[in-house]
Amino acid sequence: MAASTTASDLIRLDQPQQKDLDRCVHCGLCLNACPTYRELGVEMDSPRGRIYQMVQVAAGRLPVSDTYQEHIDLCLACRACETACPSGVQYGKLVEAARAHIEMVKPRPWIDRAVRGFVYGRLLPSPSLMTLAGNLTALYQATGLQRLVRATRILKPFGRLEQLERLMPPAERPFFFDQTGRTFPAHGERRARVGFVAGCLANVSFARLNEATVRVLQRNGCEVVVPAGQGCCGALHVHAGLRELARDLARRNLDAFATGGYDAIVTNAAGCGSTLKEYAELLEHDPASAERAAAFAARVRDVTEFLAALGLNREMGQLPITVTYQDSCHLAHGQRVRIQPRQLLEAVPGLKFKELPLADLCCGSAGVYNVQQTEMSMALLEKKMQMAATTGADTIVTANPGCMLQLRAGAAMFGRNQRVLHVVEVLDEAYRKA
Ligand code: SF4
Ligand code: SF4
Repeated sequence: MAASTTASDLIRLDQPQQKDLDRCVHCGLCLNACPTYRELGVEMDSPRGRIYQMVQVAAGRLPVSDTYQEHIDLCLACRACETACPSGVQYGKLVEAARAHIEMVKPRPWIDRAVRGFVYGRLLPSPSLMTLAGNLTALYQATGLQRLVRATRILKPFGRLEQLERLMPPAERPFFFDQTGRTFPAHGERRARVGFVAGCLANVSFARLNEATVRVLQRNGCEVVVPAGQGCCGALHVHAGLRELARDLARRNLDAFATGGYDAIVTNAAGCGSTLKEYAELLEHDPASAERAAAFAARVRDVTEFLAALGLNREMGQLPITVTYQDSCHLAHGQRVRIQPRQLLEAVPGLKFKELPLADLCCGSAGVYNVQQTEMSMALLEKKMQMAATTGADTIVTANPGCMLQLRAGAAMFGRNQRVLHVVEVLDEAYRKA
Protein backbone atom coordinates (compact mmCIF):
# COMPACT_ATOMS: atom_id res chain seq x y z
CA MET A 1 0.00 0.00 0.00
CA ALA A 2 1.18 3.55 -0.66
CA ALA A 3 3.13 5.14 2.18
CA SER A 4 0.41 7.80 2.68
CA THR A 5 -2.30 5.17 3.30
CA THR A 6 -3.38 5.21 6.95
CA ALA A 7 -4.71 2.37 9.13
CA SER A 8 -8.24 3.81 8.88
CA ASP A 9 -7.92 3.91 5.06
CA LEU A 10 -7.04 0.22 5.15
CA ILE A 11 -10.04 -0.67 7.33
CA ARG A 12 -12.30 1.26 4.94
CA LEU A 13 -10.79 -0.15 1.73
CA ASP A 14 -10.29 -3.74 2.85
CA GLN A 15 -13.78 -4.40 4.26
CA PRO A 16 -16.77 -5.54 2.15
CA GLN A 17 -17.84 -2.63 -0.04
CA GLN A 18 -21.49 -1.56 -0.07
CA LYS A 19 -21.75 -1.65 -3.87
CA ASP A 20 -20.63 -5.31 -3.85
CA LEU A 21 -23.02 -6.24 -1.02
CA ASP A 22 -25.92 -4.51 -2.80
CA ARG A 23 -25.69 -6.92 -5.72
CA CYS A 24 -27.20 -9.71 -3.64
CA VAL A 25 -31.00 -9.81 -4.02
CA HIS A 26 -31.31 -12.63 -1.45
CA CYS A 27 -32.93 -15.00 -3.96
CA GLY A 28 -31.29 -18.10 -2.47
CA LEU A 29 -30.36 -19.68 -5.80
CA CYS A 30 -26.82 -20.20 -4.48
CA LEU A 31 -27.83 -22.24 -1.44
CA ASN A 32 -27.72 -25.69 -2.97
CA ALA A 33 -24.29 -25.03 -4.47
CA CYS A 34 -22.80 -24.25 -1.05
CA PRO A 35 -20.98 -27.18 0.60
CA THR A 36 -21.42 -25.88 4.16
CA TYR A 37 -25.14 -25.23 3.66
CA ARG A 38 -25.62 -28.67 2.09
CA GLU A 39 -23.88 -30.19 5.10
CA LEU A 40 -25.51 -28.20 7.92
CA GLY A 41 -28.72 -26.75 6.46
CA VAL A 42 -28.10 -23.56 8.46
CA GLU A 43 -28.97 -20.27 6.74
CA MET A 44 -26.13 -18.40 8.47
CA ASP A 45 -23.69 -20.91 6.94
CA SER A 46 -25.00 -20.28 3.42
CA PRO A 47 -23.77 -17.61 0.99
CA ARG A 48 -26.99 -15.62 1.39
CA GLY A 49 -26.80 -15.84 5.17
CA ARG A 50 -23.15 -14.80 5.26
CA ILE A 51 -23.81 -11.83 2.98
CA TYR A 52 -26.75 -10.84 5.22
CA GLN A 53 -24.39 -10.82 8.22
CA MET A 54 -21.82 -8.74 6.29
CA VAL A 55 -24.58 -6.21 5.46
CA GLN A 56 -25.55 -5.98 9.13
CA VAL A 57 -21.92 -5.49 10.18
CA ALA A 58 -21.40 -2.80 7.51
CA ALA A 59 -24.51 -0.98 8.76
CA GLY A 60 -23.32 -1.18 12.37
CA ARG A 61 -26.31 -3.32 13.42
CA LEU A 62 -24.16 -6.40 14.19
CA PRO A 63 -20.83 -6.36 16.04
CA VAL A 64 -17.77 -8.20 14.73
CA SER A 65 -18.43 -10.95 17.26
CA ASP A 66 -17.14 -14.48 17.79
CA THR A 67 -20.33 -15.81 16.16
CA TYR A 68 -19.87 -13.67 13.06
CA GLN A 69 -16.25 -14.80 12.82
CA GLU A 70 -17.26 -18.48 13.17
CA HIS A 71 -19.71 -18.26 10.24
CA ILE A 72 -17.17 -16.45 8.07
CA ASP A 73 -14.36 -18.85 9.06
CA LEU A 74 -16.51 -21.90 8.23
CA CYS A 75 -16.83 -20.69 4.63
CA LEU A 76 -14.45 -22.57 2.31
CA ALA A 77 -14.10 -19.54 0.00
CA CYS A 78 -14.70 -22.10 -2.74
CA ARG A 79 -16.77 -19.59 -4.76
CA ALA A 80 -19.31 -22.20 -5.93
CA CYS A 81 -21.93 -19.62 -4.99
CA GLU A 82 -20.45 -17.21 -7.57
CA THR A 83 -21.03 -19.73 -10.33
CA ALA A 84 -24.62 -20.27 -9.16
CA CYS A 85 -25.48 -16.60 -8.63
CA PRO A 86 -27.56 -14.94 -11.38
CA SER A 87 -26.88 -11.45 -9.98
CA GLY A 88 -23.11 -11.53 -10.46
CA VAL A 89 -22.27 -11.35 -6.74
CA GLN A 90 -18.48 -11.56 -6.36
CA TYR A 91 -18.64 -13.61 -3.21
CA GLY A 92 -14.92 -14.48 -3.14
CA LYS A 93 -14.05 -10.81 -2.96
CA LEU A 94 -16.63 -10.28 -0.20
CA VAL A 95 -15.47 -13.11 2.04
CA GLU A 96 -11.80 -12.15 1.65
CA ALA A 97 -12.71 -8.57 2.61
CA ALA A 98 -14.82 -9.78 5.56
CA ARG A 99 -11.82 -11.76 6.84
CA ALA A 100 -9.50 -8.79 6.36
CA HIS A 101 -11.94 -6.63 8.31
CA ILE A 102 -12.15 -9.16 11.17
CA GLU A 103 -8.36 -9.35 11.20
CA MET A 104 -8.06 -5.58 11.57
CA VAL A 105 -10.74 -4.92 14.19
CA LYS A 106 -10.87 -8.10 16.32
CA PRO A 107 -7.67 -9.07 18.10
CA ARG A 108 -7.00 -12.83 18.21
CA PRO A 109 -5.69 -14.70 21.28
CA TRP A 110 -1.91 -14.31 21.60
CA ILE A 111 -1.19 -17.93 20.69
CA ASP A 112 -3.13 -17.59 17.42
CA ARG A 113 -1.30 -14.37 16.67
CA ALA A 114 2.06 -16.02 17.32
CA VAL A 115 1.32 -19.08 15.13
CA ARG A 116 -0.17 -17.00 12.30
CA GLY A 117 2.67 -14.49 12.52
CA PHE A 118 5.24 -17.27 12.15
CA VAL A 119 3.49 -19.27 9.40
CA TYR A 120 2.27 -16.39 7.24
CA GLY A 121 4.90 -13.78 8.07
CA ARG A 122 8.07 -15.87 8.35
CA LEU A 123 7.75 -19.44 7.06
CA LEU A 124 5.83 -19.19 3.76
CA PRO A 125 7.80 -16.20 2.40
CA SER A 126 11.21 -17.69 3.29
CA PRO A 127 12.87 -20.32 1.03
CA SER A 128 15.46 -21.07 3.74
CA LEU A 129 12.85 -21.73 6.46
CA MET A 130 10.77 -23.77 3.99
CA THR A 131 13.87 -25.83 3.20
CA LEU A 132 14.52 -26.41 6.90
CA ALA A 133 10.89 -27.47 7.47
CA GLY A 134 11.13 -29.72 4.41
CA ASN A 135 14.30 -31.40 5.70
CA LEU A 136 12.69 -32.09 9.09
CA THR A 137 9.63 -33.56 7.35
CA ALA A 138 11.89 -35.69 5.13
CA LEU A 139 13.59 -37.03 8.27
CA TYR A 140 10.22 -37.92 9.83
CA GLN A 141 9.32 -39.83 6.68
CA ALA A 142 12.69 -41.42 5.90
CA THR A 143 13.30 -42.78 9.42
CA GLY A 144 10.06 -44.76 9.21
CA LEU A 145 8.53 -42.74 12.04
CA GLN A 146 5.62 -41.70 9.85
CA ARG A 147 4.93 -45.32 8.82
CA LEU A 148 5.03 -46.35 12.47
CA VAL A 149 2.67 -43.57 13.55
CA ARG A 150 0.20 -44.54 10.84
CA ALA A 151 0.47 -48.31 11.33
CA THR A 152 0.07 -48.20 15.12
CA ARG A 153 -2.55 -45.43 14.95
CA ILE A 154 -0.88 -43.98 18.02
CA LEU A 155 -2.58 -40.64 17.39
CA LYS A 156 -6.11 -42.13 17.34
CA PRO A 157 -6.98 -41.03 20.91
CA PHE A 158 -6.18 -37.47 19.85
CA GLY A 159 -8.82 -37.57 17.06
CA ARG A 160 -8.13 -34.44 15.04
CA LEU A 161 -4.36 -34.88 15.37
CA GLU A 162 -4.53 -38.20 13.54
CA GLN A 163 -6.44 -36.60 10.68
CA LEU A 164 -3.99 -33.70 10.58
CA GLU A 165 -1.05 -36.10 10.36
CA ARG A 166 -2.71 -37.73 7.33
CA LEU A 167 -2.90 -34.31 5.69
CA MET A 168 0.77 -33.51 6.31
CA PRO A 169 2.46 -32.46 3.06
CA PRO A 170 5.29 -34.77 1.94
CA ALA A 171 8.86 -33.58 1.48
CA GLU A 172 10.21 -34.41 -1.97
CA ARG A 173 13.99 -34.07 -2.13
CA PRO A 174 15.71 -32.59 -4.06
CA PHE A 175 13.55 -29.53 -3.56
CA PHE A 176 12.54 -27.44 -6.56
CA PHE A 177 14.24 -24.38 -5.00
CA ASP A 178 17.41 -25.74 -6.70
CA GLN A 179 15.86 -24.90 -10.10
CA THR A 180 15.18 -21.24 -9.31
CA GLY A 181 16.94 -18.93 -11.76
CA ARG A 182 17.22 -21.58 -14.48
CA THR A 183 15.99 -21.46 -18.08
CA PHE A 184 14.84 -24.70 -19.72
CA PRO A 185 14.97 -24.76 -23.54
CA ALA A 186 11.99 -25.62 -25.73
CA HIS A 187 11.98 -29.02 -27.40
CA GLY A 188 11.89 -28.45 -31.15
CA GLU A 189 10.78 -25.14 -32.54
CA ARG A 190 10.12 -22.50 -29.87
CA ARG A 191 6.41 -21.63 -29.76
CA ALA A 192 6.41 -19.51 -26.58
CA ARG A 193 8.56 -18.22 -23.75
CA VAL A 194 6.93 -18.60 -20.36
CA GLY A 195 7.76 -17.59 -16.80
CA PHE A 196 6.97 -20.40 -14.35
CA VAL A 197 5.60 -19.66 -10.88
CA ALA A 198 7.10 -22.36 -8.66
CA GLY A 199 5.05 -21.50 -5.55
CA CYS A 200 6.21 -21.71 -1.93
CA LEU A 201 5.24 -25.03 -0.34
CA ALA A 202 5.21 -26.64 -3.80
CA ASN A 203 9.01 -26.27 -4.00
CA VAL A 204 9.26 -28.72 -1.12
CA SER A 205 6.13 -30.85 -1.32
CA PHE A 206 5.46 -30.92 -5.06
CA ALA A 207 8.98 -30.74 -6.47
CA ARG A 208 8.29 -33.67 -8.85
CA LEU A 209 5.05 -32.03 -10.04
CA ASN A 210 6.93 -28.80 -10.78
CA GLU A 211 9.56 -30.77 -12.73
CA ALA A 212 6.82 -32.57 -14.68
CA THR A 213 5.21 -29.22 -15.48
CA VAL A 214 8.47 -27.87 -16.89
CA ARG A 215 8.96 -31.04 -18.99
CA VAL A 216 5.43 -30.92 -20.40
CA LEU A 217 5.83 -27.25 -21.30
CA GLN A 218 9.16 -28.01 -22.99
CA ARG A 219 7.53 -30.86 -24.95
CA ASN A 220 5.02 -28.31 -26.15
CA GLY A 221 7.67 -26.00 -27.56
CA CYS A 222 7.96 -23.66 -24.58
CA GLU A 223 11.14 -22.11 -23.28
CA VAL A 224 10.55 -22.14 -19.52
CA VAL A 225 12.14 -19.61 -17.20
CA VAL A 226 11.98 -20.01 -13.42
CA PRO A 227 12.80 -16.43 -12.43
CA ALA A 228 15.05 -15.83 -9.43
CA GLY A 229 13.61 -13.68 -6.66
CA GLN A 230 10.07 -15.03 -6.96
CA GLY A 231 8.27 -16.37 -3.91
CA CYS A 232 4.97 -17.19 -2.28
CA CYS A 233 2.09 -15.65 -4.28
CA GLY A 234 0.14 -14.57 -1.18
CA ALA A 235 -3.00 -16.65 -1.90
CA LEU A 236 -3.07 -18.16 1.60
CA HIS A 237 -2.57 -14.69 3.07
CA VAL A 238 -5.47 -13.23 1.06
CA HIS A 239 -7.74 -16.08 2.16
CA ALA A 240 -6.73 -15.52 5.78
CA GLY A 241 -7.49 -11.79 5.58
CA LEU A 242 -3.81 -10.77 5.68
CA ARG A 243 -3.95 -8.47 2.68
CA GLU A 244 -0.99 -6.24 3.58
CA LEU A 245 1.34 -9.23 3.81
CA ALA A 246 -0.10 -10.48 0.51
CA ARG A 247 0.64 -7.11 -1.08
CA ASP A 248 4.30 -7.30 -0.03
CA LEU A 249 4.56 -10.76 -1.59
CA ALA A 250 2.82 -9.61 -4.77
CA ARG A 251 5.27 -6.73 -5.18
CA ARG A 252 8.17 -9.18 -4.86
CA ASN A 253 6.73 -11.26 -7.69
CA LEU A 254 6.11 -8.20 -9.86
CA ASP A 255 9.82 -7.42 -9.58
CA ALA A 256 10.89 -11.02 -10.24
CA PHE A 257 8.83 -11.35 -13.44
CA ALA A 258 9.28 -7.73 -14.61
CA THR A 259 11.92 -8.12 -17.28
CA GLY A 260 11.45 -11.58 -18.79
CA GLY A 261 9.41 -10.65 -21.87
CA TYR A 262 7.15 -13.66 -21.23
CA ASP A 263 4.27 -14.63 -23.49
CA ALA A 264 2.59 -16.01 -20.38
CA ILE A 265 3.20 -16.42 -16.65
CA VAL A 266 2.24 -20.02 -15.95
CA THR A 267 1.23 -21.76 -12.74
CA ASN A 268 0.19 -25.35 -11.99
CA ALA A 269 -1.66 -24.37 -8.81
CA ALA A 270 -5.25 -23.25 -9.25
CA GLY A 271 -5.36 -21.54 -5.86
CA CYS A 272 -2.25 -19.51 -6.65
CA GLY A 273 -3.44 -18.74 -10.19
CA SER A 274 -6.66 -17.26 -8.92
CA THR A 275 -4.78 -14.82 -6.66
CA LEU A 276 -2.10 -14.05 -9.28
CA LYS A 277 -4.88 -13.09 -11.70
CA GLU A 278 -6.27 -10.77 -9.02
CA TYR A 279 -3.02 -8.87 -8.30
CA ALA A 280 -4.53 -5.85 -10.07
CA GLU A 281 -7.32 -5.68 -7.47
CA LEU A 282 -4.98 -6.40 -4.60
CA LEU A 283 -2.72 -3.48 -5.55
CA GLU A 284 -5.30 -1.13 -7.09
CA HIS A 285 -4.78 1.49 -4.36
CA ASP A 286 -0.99 1.44 -4.64
CA PRO A 287 -0.06 3.99 -7.31
CA ALA A 288 3.52 2.68 -7.51
CA SER A 289 2.43 -0.87 -8.39
CA ALA A 290 -1.12 -0.75 -9.81
CA GLU A 291 -0.16 -0.55 -13.48
CA ARG A 292 2.50 -3.25 -13.26
CA ALA A 293 0.12 -5.48 -11.31
CA ALA A 294 -2.55 -5.18 -14.03
CA ALA A 295 0.01 -6.04 -16.75
CA PHE A 296 1.26 -9.02 -14.71
CA ALA A 297 -2.25 -10.32 -13.98
CA ALA A 298 -3.24 -10.14 -17.65
CA ARG A 299 -0.42 -12.58 -18.51
CA VAL A 300 -1.18 -15.22 -15.87
CA ARG A 301 -2.47 -18.57 -17.14
CA ASP A 302 -3.20 -21.86 -15.47
CA VAL A 303 -1.02 -24.50 -17.15
CA THR A 304 -4.09 -26.40 -18.44
CA GLU A 305 -5.62 -23.23 -19.85
CA PHE A 306 -2.31 -22.31 -21.47
CA LEU A 307 -1.67 -25.71 -23.09
CA ALA A 308 -5.22 -26.00 -24.43
CA ALA A 309 -4.96 -22.55 -26.04
CA LEU A 310 -1.47 -23.25 -27.41
CA GLY A 311 -2.60 -26.52 -29.01
CA LEU A 312 -1.37 -29.71 -27.35
CA ASN A 313 1.50 -31.73 -28.80
CA ARG A 314 -0.19 -35.10 -29.34
CA GLU A 315 2.94 -37.25 -29.68
CA MET A 316 2.07 -39.36 -26.67
CA GLY A 317 2.21 -43.07 -25.90
CA GLN A 318 -0.71 -45.23 -24.76
CA LEU A 319 -1.80 -44.73 -21.15
CA PRO A 320 -4.42 -47.37 -20.36
CA ILE A 321 -5.87 -45.86 -17.18
CA THR A 322 -9.38 -44.88 -16.14
CA VAL A 323 -9.50 -41.40 -14.71
CA THR A 324 -12.03 -39.10 -13.17
CA TYR A 325 -11.51 -35.38 -12.73
CA GLN A 326 -12.16 -33.27 -9.62
CA ASP A 327 -12.51 -29.58 -10.48
CA SER A 328 -10.38 -27.39 -8.26
CA CYS A 329 -12.67 -24.66 -6.93
CA HIS A 330 -10.28 -21.85 -7.73
CA LEU A 331 -9.93 -23.11 -11.28
CA ALA A 332 -13.60 -23.85 -12.01
CA HIS A 333 -15.32 -21.14 -9.98
CA GLY A 334 -12.47 -18.66 -9.54
CA GLN A 335 -11.03 -18.74 -13.07
CA ARG A 336 -13.86 -20.37 -15.03
CA VAL A 337 -11.45 -22.99 -16.43
CA ARG A 338 -13.45 -26.21 -16.70
CA ILE A 339 -13.29 -27.59 -20.21
CA GLN A 340 -9.54 -27.32 -20.83
CA PRO A 341 -8.32 -29.89 -18.24
CA ARG A 342 -10.91 -32.37 -19.55
CA GLN A 343 -9.83 -31.70 -23.16
CA LEU A 344 -6.19 -32.38 -22.26
CA LEU A 345 -7.05 -35.65 -20.49
CA GLU A 346 -9.26 -36.84 -23.34
CA ALA A 347 -6.36 -36.24 -25.77
CA VAL A 348 -4.27 -38.93 -24.06
CA PRO A 349 -4.28 -42.18 -26.11
CA GLY A 350 -5.77 -45.16 -24.27
CA LEU A 351 -7.10 -43.08 -21.36
CA LYS A 352 -10.75 -43.62 -20.37
CA PHE A 353 -12.44 -40.58 -18.88
CA LYS A 354 -15.33 -40.91 -16.43
CA GLU A 355 -17.13 -37.77 -15.30
CA LEU A 356 -17.32 -37.38 -11.52
CA PRO A 357 -20.78 -36.56 -10.11
CA LEU A 358 -20.72 -33.12 -8.45
CA ALA A 359 -17.14 -32.68 -9.69
CA ASP A 360 -17.14 -28.96 -8.89
CA LEU A 361 -18.26 -29.38 -5.28
CA CYS A 362 -15.33 -28.64 -2.95
CA CYS A 363 -13.31 -31.62 -1.64
CA GLY A 364 -12.74 -29.75 1.65
CA SER A 365 -9.13 -28.78 1.02
CA ALA A 366 -9.50 -25.01 0.50
CA GLY A 367 -5.97 -23.83 1.33
CA VAL A 368 -5.44 -24.44 5.03
CA TYR A 369 -9.17 -24.95 5.70
CA ASN A 370 -8.65 -28.70 6.23
CA VAL A 371 -6.23 -27.89 9.07
CA GLN A 372 -8.44 -25.24 10.66
CA GLN A 373 -11.92 -26.72 10.09
CA THR A 374 -10.99 -30.39 10.07
CA GLU A 375 -14.42 -31.79 10.95
CA MET A 376 -16.26 -30.08 8.08
CA SER A 377 -13.36 -30.77 5.73
CA MET A 378 -13.41 -34.51 6.49
CA ALA A 379 -17.19 -34.72 6.10
CA LEU A 380 -16.88 -33.19 2.60
CA LEU A 381 -13.92 -35.41 1.74
CA GLU A 382 -15.72 -38.61 2.73
CA LYS A 383 -18.64 -37.74 0.41
CA LYS A 384 -16.22 -36.83 -2.37
CA MET A 385 -14.55 -40.23 -2.11
CA GLN A 386 -17.93 -41.99 -2.19
CA MET A 387 -18.65 -40.16 -5.46
CA ALA A 388 -15.22 -41.04 -6.83
CA ALA A 389 -15.83 -44.73 -6.07
CA THR A 390 -19.01 -44.71 -8.19
CA THR A 391 -16.97 -43.85 -11.30
CA GLY A 392 -14.77 -46.96 -11.02
CA ALA A 393 -11.75 -44.79 -11.89
CA ASP A 394 -8.33 -46.01 -10.77
CA THR A 395 -6.89 -42.48 -10.95
CA ILE A 396 -8.33 -39.24 -9.60
CA VAL A 397 -6.99 -36.20 -11.42
CA THR A 398 -7.14 -32.59 -10.36
CA ALA A 399 -5.29 -29.33 -11.05
CA ASN A 400 -4.19 -27.99 -7.69
CA PRO A 401 -1.56 -29.30 -5.26
CA GLY A 402 -3.73 -28.56 -2.21
CA CYS A 403 -6.57 -30.65 -3.65
CA MET A 404 -4.08 -33.43 -4.43
CA LEU A 405 -3.00 -33.61 -0.78
CA GLN A 406 -6.60 -33.72 0.38
CA LEU A 407 -7.66 -36.34 -2.18
CA ARG A 408 -4.62 -38.51 -1.39
CA ALA A 409 -5.61 -38.48 2.27
CA GLY A 410 -9.19 -39.25 1.18
CA ALA A 411 -8.12 -42.18 -1.02
CA ALA A 412 -6.29 -43.70 1.97
CA MET A 413 -8.93 -42.96 4.62
CA PHE A 414 -12.26 -43.32 2.79
CA GLY A 415 -11.42 -44.45 -0.72
CA ARG A 416 -9.93 -47.33 -2.63
CA ASN A 417 -6.34 -46.13 -2.59
CA GLN A 418 -6.77 -44.63 -6.04
CA ARG A 419 -3.80 -42.77 -7.48
CA VAL A 420 -4.15 -38.99 -7.32
CA LEU A 421 -2.38 -37.01 -10.04
CA HIS A 422 -2.24 -33.52 -11.51
CA VAL A 423 -3.32 -33.13 -15.16
CA VAL A 424 0.27 -32.37 -16.20
CA GLU A 425 1.54 -35.52 -14.46
CA VAL A 426 -0.81 -37.57 -16.65
CA LEU A 427 0.49 -35.77 -19.75
CA ASP A 428 4.07 -36.25 -18.58
CA GLU A 429 3.53 -40.02 -18.23
CA ALA A 430 2.00 -40.17 -21.70
CA TYR A 431 4.92 -38.23 -23.24
CA ARG A 432 7.42 -40.53 -21.56
CA LYS A 433 5.70 -43.50 -23.23
CA ALA A 434 5.89 -41.92 -26.69
S1 SF4 B 1 -25.52 -14.46 -3.66
FE1 SF4 B 1 -26.60 -14.41 -5.63
S2 SF4 B 1 -27.70 -16.37 -5.70
FE2 SF4 B 1 -27.09 -16.05 -3.57
S3 SF4 B 1 -28.84 -15.04 -2.61
FE3 SF4 B 1 -27.46 -13.40 -3.32
S4 SF4 B 1 -28.20 -12.87 -5.36
FE4 SF4 B 1 -29.13 -14.85 -4.85
S1 SF4 C 1 -17.60 -19.75 -0.97
FE1 SF4 C 1 -18.27 -21.90 -0.92
S2 SF4 C 1 -18.56 -22.36 1.29
FE2 SF4 C 1 -18.43 -20.12 1.09
S3 SF4 C 1 -20.55 -19.43 0.92
FE3 SF4 C 1 -19.82 -19.71 -1.20
S4 SF4 C 1 -20.36 -21.81 -1.76
FE4 SF4 C 1 -20.55 -21.63 0.50
